[in-house]
Amino acid sequence: METRAAILRSMGASRPYADSRPLSIETVTLDPPGPGEVQVRIRAAGLCHSDLSVINGDRPRPLPMALGHEAAGEVEALGEGVDDLSVGDHVVMVFMPSCGHCAPCAEGRPALCEPGAAANGRGELLTGGQRLHAGDEVLHHHLGCSAFAERAVVSRRSLIRIDPALPFDQAALFGCAVLTGVGAVVNTAGVRPGQSVAVVGLGGVGLASVLGALACGASPVVAVDLSEDKLALARTLGPVHTVHAADADAIDQVRALTGGGADYTFDATGNVQVMRAALEACHKGWGTSVIIGVAPAGAEISTRPFQLVTGRTWKGTAFGGARGRTEVPGIVDWYMDGKIEIDPMITHILSLDEINEGFDLMHKGESIRAVVVY
Ligand code: NAD
Ligand code: ZN
Repeated sequence: METRAAILRSMGASRPYADSRPLSIETVTLDPPGPGEVQVRIRAAGLCHSDLSVINGDRPRPLPMALGHEAAGEVEALGEGVDDLSVGDHVVMVFMPSCGHCAPCAEGRPALCEPGAAANGRGELLTGGQRLHAGDEVLHHHLGCSAFAERAVVSRRSLIRIDPALPFDQAALFGCAVLTGVGAVVNTAGVRPGQSVAVVGLGGVGLASVLGALACGASPVVAVDLSEDKLALARTLGPVHTVHAADADAIDQVRALTGGGADYTFDATGNVQVMRAALEACHKGWGTSVIIGVAPAGAEISTRPFQLVTGRTWKGTAFGGARGRTEVPGIVDWYMDGKIEIDPMITHILSLDEINEGFDLMHKGESIRAVVVY
């Protein structure tokens, strides 16, 4: 079958992408679903910084690659042996498939699935190989999904069935930004009511952490970014204090708002200087700083060891530490019950042909989530 898809053939294109057009929208061949695989008619796909990190070369991946990993759609066809989904089911894609058998999966940590990570690194599906071709050219999959396309064939283990009442453009965000940002707060940090939280970086992931902190009853909640617009938006989400990251005393402002340092801080920028500042803004003795952002390949973090000797904890989170298949429906319920309000995160709706312009918006910090709808 044929499908239109956004293909990346070289990294590090000059900006603006509206002119250099690193993503080429092409009609390519999609193989039918094999054993354990599912064909999905994609209805909406969000633009995530992890896609931008491949386009700009910060996180190199095998090329050519069909990008996109935060998506929702409808099941269109089932491969052999898939008996727990039906044609017409609504599904969300998750960017880390879980095999269910390796040590992390068996330990209840499917976000760290070893075969899943290896397949993602090779640009293959968890079931092995690729299902997309442009003539003789094999196209690699991005994170087992390749969702900037009208259709995709993916491993059953990259999909979660969701309530069909959830609109597709919101649903897409659950696959990456919402599960990662909320999961970092709920699973990795385990924030409890009354604890103080500071989140640095208010893209889709960081705003989801702010929403998760509010839903957990955290107080105070402090949001930090370089963009006045994003700070203003964060203040509309609930009782949120904001700090401009460019202020020379930004760390001191966070400490002052949180009684000497936050119980939990989160980096949602991927910038190693921000990671250090976030650690230093959490409270000595018991504060924990969680790294959500993915830094460029080869980047290193540093701080004075004294920061840790005095009782701070530095940790990271993959996919919000989530057990995707079991947790996504619960977070969808939070949304349906009005406990988290993700609609303000969707700032732009695009067609597939406008996707390069969408990554310009992200690079300039002008979008939170731009969503391609089909
Ligand atoms: P985004 O580009 O939409 O948002 C980043 C935000 O950080 C922007 O609002 C920007 O203004 C702000 N920012 C940049 N530099 C800053 C600074 N010095 N101080 C304060 N704010 C600053 O990105 P996103 O899609 O929300 O993703 C955020 C990060 O999370 C990325 O690194 C992404 O790769 C990573 N990520 C990690 C996981 C995971 O499993 N750990 C999953 C998804 C995304
Ligand atoms: Zn993502």
